[in-house]
Amino acid sequence: MGSQKTRQDIITIACDFNTSGLSAGKSGNLSVRREDGFLITPTGISYDQLIPDNIVHCDQNGRVISGDFIPSSEWPFHAAIYEAREEVNAVVHVHSPYATALACTRKPIPAFHYMIAVAGGNTIPCADYATFGSSDLSKNIVTALAGHTACLMANHGMVAVGDSLVSAYNLTHEVEALAKRYCISLQCGGPVFIDDIEMETIVEKFKIYGKQNKDN
Ligand SMILES: [Zn+2]
Repeated sequence: MGSQKTRQDIITIACDFNTSGLSAGKSGNLSVRREDGFLITPTGISYDQLIPDNIVHCDQNGRVISGDFIPSSEWPFHAAIYEAREEVNAVVHVHSPYATALACTRKPIPAFHYMIAVAGGNTIPCADYATFGSSDLSKNIVTALAGHTACLMANHGMVAVGDSLVSAYNLTHEVEALAKRYCISLQCGGPVFIDDIEMETIVEKFKIYGKQNKDN
């Protein structure tokens, strides 16, 4: 069954949350879209103890279709993103140190570096604060993510999306690396920002950046 490989891919990345330092302990979660809902990490299980049958298959309302456990308590914003963004096939959420530190300032990451465009715009936005697992948080994330593929979540963490699990996870690492560089830059006296006109040019270039394989 194709979903067994996807379940294993989810576990591999969840374990990498811990080993890469992206998200400590049981924090963070990730999901992959299915025709009738999505596969998502369960709540309360250490990532290194997960087996494929533990990954929860639930519908858009969080009802469990298969899986031994209940889904991550943060399933509502995964469902909201899949509802709002038909091009998104995977969602990765972490409490990574630098992105989370910046998210606690409740401000976007500005255009301090051209790679900010990797998330689709001239900033990486920050979703307004709401209680974890709440419908308000889902709305705030969908709003902040509009036109983007990643955002910070105020006083919480970050979320990245993609057309595949690999693209969403690569973007998660990229955003955390950018957040780290921005923090260091602030400590060095603060960056000079790239202006909006130049960022527009860069965002356009990013629309074809890394796409050459699709044409071959
Ligand atoms: Zn979280």
